[in-house]
Amino acid sequence: MKYYSLNHKAENTSFKNAVVKGLAPDKGLYFPENITPLPKSFFDNIQNLSNTEIAFQAIKQFVTPDIPEQVLKTIIEETLSFNFPIVNLSEHISTLELFHGPTMAFKDVGARFMARCLGYFNKENSNEVTVLVATSGDTGGAVANGFLGVKGVNVVILYPSGKVSDIQEKQLTTLGNNITALEVDGVFDDCQDMVKRAFLDEDLTSKMQLTSANSINVARWLPQLFYFMFAYKQLHKKHENIVFSVPSGNFGNVCAGMMAQQLGLPIKHFIASNNENNVVTNYLHTKEYKPKPSVQTISNAMDVGNPSNFIRIKEIYKNNFDSLKTNLSSYSFNDIETKKALKEIFDNYNYVADPHGAVGYLGCKAYLKDNKNSHCVFLETAHPTKFLDVVEEVIKEKQLLPKQIQAVIDKEKVSTQISTYNELKQFLLNK
Ligand SMILES: *Cc1c(COP(=O)(O)O)cnc(C)c1O
Repeated sequence: MKYYSLNHKAENTSFKNAVVKGLAPDKGLYFPENITPLPKSFFDNIQNLSNTEIAFQAIKQFVTPDIPEQVLKTIIEETLSFNFPIVNLSEHISTLELFHGPTMAFKDVGARFMARCLGYFNKENSNEVTVLVATSGDTGGAVANGFLGVKGVNVVILYPSGKVSDIQEKQLTTLGNNITALEVDGVFDDCQDMVKRAFLDEDLTSKMQLTSANSINVARWLPQLFYFMFAYKQLHKKHENIVFSVPSGNFGNVCAGMMAQQLGLPIKHFIASNNENNVVTNYLHTKEYKPKPSVQTISNAMDVGNPSNFIRIKEIYKNNFDSLKTNLSSYSFNDIETKKALKEIFDNYNYVADPHGAVGYLGCKAYLKDNKNSHCVFLETAHPTKFLDVVEEVIKEKQLLPKQIQAVIDKEKVSTQISTYNELKQFLLNK
């Protein structure tokens, strides 16, 4: 598969190049040239297929021939070594738990897949690649864990000081080896801006191969389409009119769901559920896309003021506002509403959600009000104990820490503090 840049100035390129470069030379995001739907029989019989078989069929066209089929099978088997269960809450609402991976965040799948692709591409050359990644919370841990020990790859993570949870911070600052954490005096957007600037800085790019592991990278973004198929596999015999409510920040996940739909997955509608960072909610109401500085919330992995994948969503709908609006609704909720939802989910269904999942739940409720014959699946994108303070305060019940979390909680944080772009640059040059 070839990829083109959404800025339409750079040349089309291979999957390999798109992964290694991250962003096109004209600064555009890469997008696949073609999307060939899978046969209807694939979806009709999906309950008979294993997750790895589903994933293989779904992503094959996007990554071959750069990744040969046999290698792809192995990459997928290693990536998907945990479960993706549906938990049914009510007749109209289920949740898809995406937190059973090593860092208990849905980003584990994309990070593990991308790390293995990059590891494969690196086998053939001896140049080191530096993965530079900005995180608002969960990306850092998932990327750090996914890339830990991958030969020829160094990972540098930028995170906003004091604005990620304690457990998230531990997950990205305690691994060592080929992973370094930079603690930025600022908010997530400052981290993201620094990373973007580094990619454009010839002083750096002439000396090192930089790439991104944010969802702008196609190898991080595309595997997320598996989730929607795994949910459909578990639900389609029981429910019609399946809609997904996706707690959204950079909009990579919901955009991957739309790719699954393009592949033929019968999804009726998407809901992008936002916290108070509501650029897209506003866009769907006003038709005006107005990025703004991010505000801090209790669902911090969604504190994004200018979602980088939104341009891919527009591409899927050929920049047609009306056809996008038919397929996507968006709602925004504040922290008070989110806490109330956490409590409601616990009281009514005896289920402990995390703040991101709670925003997704609220998106389901808002949509179902006017669409009563749908079944809404909200994605549980992180394990509740990653947001222990909020969750325990609201539901007033002590949570047991899962083994993945226990493993990092007592480790010592190692990070380097920076506050300006120049400090980042010096750090990279001196590495
Ligand atoms: C990253 C993240 C999100 C947002 O996903 P996007 O693909 O950036 O929209 C939601 N919830 C959690 C827990 C996350 O880590």
